[in-house]
Amino acid sequence: RFSVVQTAPPDSILGLTEAFNADPNPDKMNLSVGVYKDESGKTPVLKSVKEAEKRLIDSETSKGYLSIDGMVEYREDVRRMVFGDAIAGERVAVLQAPGGTGALRVAADFMRTQLPDLRIWIPTPTWANHPAIFSAAELPTSTYRYLGADRTSLDLPGMLEDLRENAATGDAVLLHGCCHNPTGIDPSEDDWKQIAKVIADKQLLPLIDFAYQGFGDGLEQDAVGLRTVLEQVDEAIVCTSFSKNFGLYSERVGAISLVAADAGECEAARSQLKRIVRTNYSNPPRHGGAIVATILADESLTALWKEELEAMRTRITALRESFVQTMESTGKGYDFSFLLRQKGMFSFSGLTPMQVDELKSRHSIYIVGSGRINVAGMSESRMQTLCDAVASVMS
Ligand code: PMP
Repeated sequence: RFSVVQTAPPDSILGLTEAFNADPNPDKMNLSVGVYKDESGKTPVLKSVKEAEKRLIDSETSKGYLSIDGMVEYREDVRRMVFGDAIAGERVAVLQAPGGTGALRVAADFMRTQLPDLRIWIPTPTWANHPAIFSAAELPTSTYRYLGADRTSLDLPGMLEDLRENAATGDAVLLHGCCHNPTGIDPSEDDWKQIAKVIADKQLLPLIDFAYQGFGDGLEQDAVGLRTVLEQVDEAIVCTSFSKNFGLYSERVGAISLVAADAGECEAARSQLKRIVRTNYSNPPRHGGAIVATILADESLTALWKEELEAMRTRITALRESFVQTMESTGKGYDFSFLLRQKGMFSFSGLTPMQVDELKSRHSIYIVGSGRINVAGMSESRMQTLCDAVASVMS
């Protein structure tokens, strides 16, 4: 019977990595995948994580199931990190989830089953898995304008107009909390206020994907947009991922946080979220969440983790600066200074699909077809080589 099954199209980014791995050129560079890399090209285990894991191995006494919504301490950690003091705890239901992706799928199932007739508005462009997850959950999607015509800035008027004129009252809107993937373009604080106002006027439900807290301007600063929205509305869903900021990619650690108008509505929503989890993966994996909770329960481990997070963030900023300067120093008038205004691991470089192709075939430099660059994949020692190659395909 499997003869009826058609081969699914390959994942475009993972396909590039396969091509990269097969490339014999010793000078090849992979700027396509979405993981942080250090100067030597490795994705390290943070020291704070290693230490927490040692403690966990010694102290763990059982592999019994967690509850459907996960560990209590972890949930409290997520609530504090995301909302600070902005929202009363009784209005927030937090569920530990297998990564940001797991959280997004639970959110999508929740909206589809509990809020019929709702459609979700997603930015163009957005992370490719967003429309895929919503489609898998049979949640209708529409798009709003996000990237400006210059491909380096936010089209705020277009975004506001689409949400104001085209979205129906009560629809949902997907927002990237910070470090927009794939463009690196975030709203300013003032932009967030205007976005929040439209959301409030149209009674839209914000679904905030928060996968890069701490990679933009810092842990607290990166939450400003989300908290600005929450000043104007009393309902929201936030999907957290700790894959990037704790470097816990393979441990699948994230959370879904639902903010309700009052404690009663919050409890009803929590019960439905738990039902969705029960029929998807039953309960979340323990290890990743336990690592986060162990780090955040210990002052010195927390300080070490914050230092390590800050080091990742500042390395990315330094690479942005170095790339811009090195391109400028080629003397051909290449101005990439817009990269300095973009946040997080990714940026839209403005390179065309043809230039991206040429970088791959002539220089073994791998970039996603849209021109999205993983800045963290650059290295200081090979910056000149990279910029020479970029300059050569642009000339
Ligand atoms: N949202 C965005 C915008 C992302 O870039 C990612 C990771 N690439 C995720 C969610 C999901 O992260 P996780 O690996 O924790 O599922």
